[in-house]
Amino acid sequence: MSTFHPILWVLLGALLVAQATWIFRDARRRGEGYAWLWGLFGLVNVPSSLIVYILVTRRGNVRCTQRLKSIPREARICPYCGSTRKEEN
Ligand SMILES: [Zn+2]
Repeated sequence: MSTFHPILWVLLGALLVAQATWIFRDARRRGEGYAWLWGLFGLVNVPSSLIVYILVTRRGNVRCTQRLKSIPREARICPYCGSTRKEEN
């Protein structure tokens, strides 16, 4: 049924792990909730998991002025550091 060469499965597995690792680290860095869940999600599929992750996390959020956390676009004051947002993007 499958004519997939074994080395391709190994490559696919490595790709999934690399993707999951990147997603997990990115989610944690951005202060997303459920970073580990995103990481698991990254193990499910490549590259659609990555695309979904990018779409979900980049939509509607901006970085606070200290660029530490992603906060909702509509937030006037950063809930993490209390700074008021000055930059708009
Ligand atoms: Zn902040």
